[in-house]
Amino acid sequence: MHFRLRPMLGLMSAAVFCFSLPIHAQTASNPIKITADLTDAPRKIIHAQMTIPVIPGPLTLLYAKWIPGEHMPDGPVDNLAGLFISANGQQLAWVRDDVNMYAIRVTVPQGVTQLEVKDDFLATTAAATGFSAGASTSANLALLSWNELVLYPAGRQSADVFVQPSVVLPQGWQYGTALTKTGGDALHVDFGTVSLEQLIDSPLLSGRYFLEVPLAPEVTPKHFLDVAADGPEDLKLTADTINGYSNLVRETGALYQSRHYESYHFLVTASDQVAHFGLEHHQSSDDRVPEKTFVDDNLLLLSADLLPHEFTHSWNGKYRRPAGLATGNYEDPMKGNLLWVYEGLTDYLGNVLAARSKIETAAQYRDYLASTAAMLDYRPGRTWRDLQDTATAAQILYEASGQWDNWRRNTDYYAEGDLVWLDVDTTIRKLTHEKKSLNDFLAAFEGLGGNTPPKVVPYTFDDVVSGLNSVVAYDWAGFLQDRLTSKSPHAPMGGIENGGYKLVFTDQPNEITQAGITATGTTPAWWSIGISVTSDGHIEDVLVGSPADKANLGPGMQIVAVNGRQFTAQLLGDAIRDVKGNTSPIELIVVNTGTYRVVGIDYHDGLRYPHLERVEGTPDRLDDILKPMTEAPKVHPGE
Ligand SMILES: [Zn+2]
Repeated sequence: MHFRLRPMLGLMSAAVFCFSLPIHAQTASNPIKITADLTDAPRKIIHAQMTIPVIPGPLTLLYAKWIPGEHMPDGPVDNLAGLFISANGQQLAWVRDDVNMYAIRVTVPQGVTQLEVKDDFLATTAAATGFSAGASTSANLALLSWNELVLYPAGRQSADVFVQPSVVLPQGWQYGTALTKTGGDALHVDFGTVSLEQLIDSPLLSGRYFLEVPLAPEVTPKHFLDVAADGPEDLKLTADTINGYSNLVRETGALYQSRHYESYHFLVTASDQVAHFGLEHHQSSDDRVPEKTFVDDNLLLLSADLLPHEFTHSWNGKYRRPAGLATGNYEDPMKGNLLWVYEGLTDYLGNVLAARSKIETAAQYRDYLASTAAMLDYRPGRTWRDLQDTATAAQILYEASGQWDNWRRNTDYYAEGDLVWLDVDTTIRKLTHEKKSLNDFLAAFEGLGGNTPPKVVPYTFDDVVSGLNSVVAYDWAGFLQDRLTSKSPHAPMGGIENGGYKLVFTDQPNEITQAGITATGTTPAWWSIGISVTSDGHIEDVLVGSPADKANLGPGMQIVAVNGRQFTAQLLGDAIRDVKGNTSPIELIVVNTGTYRVVGIDYHDGLRYPHLERVEGTPDRLDDILKPMTEAPKVHPGE
């Protein structure tokens, strides 16, 4: 992932540490060796042993700080424990750098050619928080991210440090990874030597209940769906589900006209004990979903775009990467200013590919788009913070509170990317009289150089603009800048309008909203009274300028009663519906840090849910965009 864009030592490390640089003994033929022992993973502790080739003198060992794909300096060094460094059987003293918490200094004695290093990773983060270093283990499975364990000598780019990894598995557990097995047995597996960059880019999923399914077997390179779950009943994937992911493999070939990996593994953890998110890699993705996702159509729909999104990143994000994110190491700060391409374009494509692959229907895609557009159109923070600033500030937004989120704005470059890139796609179609589309841009931009092994080809804003101009000449720089710097209170709806639709509200939830209601037991009240409230009445956010805001409600309060009766989500929904056309307010009793208050909400428009409505007589470009580019074989072999 991090290739040779910058000089070997970044400004920060050179200026701050002032350590002398040893000439490393470590090479591709004499690599660092690391063995990760997962046998205690169910007890939330992972052990590692390393052998690091060295030469005598001062040495700085580093622990990865800026984690690729997470776009922030969140390497979990707080959970590094049990660090012992020795040489020829003798313990060596080490000290941490007093400015850089990720740097460990040690002096290698004369005559020593390798260090023995032991450390542990404490997998103790609470389930709902964090990303790859969030909860990653249960009694039945473990997701190993190598950056949690590996220490490496400072002074080289990550592509130029070589590591030979091995893993020890709990009895009876199987595994999936993009690493290549070279030896060992069922419990101790050796993998081929890779660069540090590839190692950290190649997580390993292991579990007692494990399934590996080949996808689109006629396609080369090979693709695998690896699933670990907390129970054997969670692995009953339907033929439709597997066909959808096989279609995804075929559709990406047609769209990107290239592949940039030797093989690809979707590493899917189906567990309620782990953090839920996705993290992209060149040759795999770390996809973590609720335990019942593959046996519950509702949960499956809510995760429809996850695998398409992370898979798309193999092209858009890993292979083609914004120059500011392609640092080539884990120490230099990353710049997020082009995340509206890295994440925004991927968000758009992940959802489009879910529909093209029939992982979800076109109608479900439109419902998702309606919900996204409506969320962004009721986001008053847009009046002080533009879309560009959400990307530039990414490293401080990922872990921001959800409270007053509509006023802060959050990592909006994901959701708003759907609207901006749909706008680009439909504008190309309009300008070329439907002869060209964003597909042409993607084939050239993501397919640059044809099929390649994993590598990074950086780009700038100007590269994006010139790529669009080579599809159709237009003021793309101005087009994008307008959308990046807008302080309009309203979301950019040009793509939906050019696509032949408009955003409307009715009193019936769309299918995606309904799936959320079923999964969470809540009543969405955002577009009516202006609150987001949990199933037990806790207010998560209050829409600035809404009736709830005018009634002085705030996030963190809890609604205990609705019109004199104990709160339920159903009761709140009924109350909002029943005030339509009335003049009396909705009466709530709320508790705020121990103090109770009766609140009247002056609102009379009933329930409101977003939908896309077709505008008859206009070109239906949105429908064209969602059509498959390739027709898949009807039956998946082996199913
Ligand atoms: Zn992403």
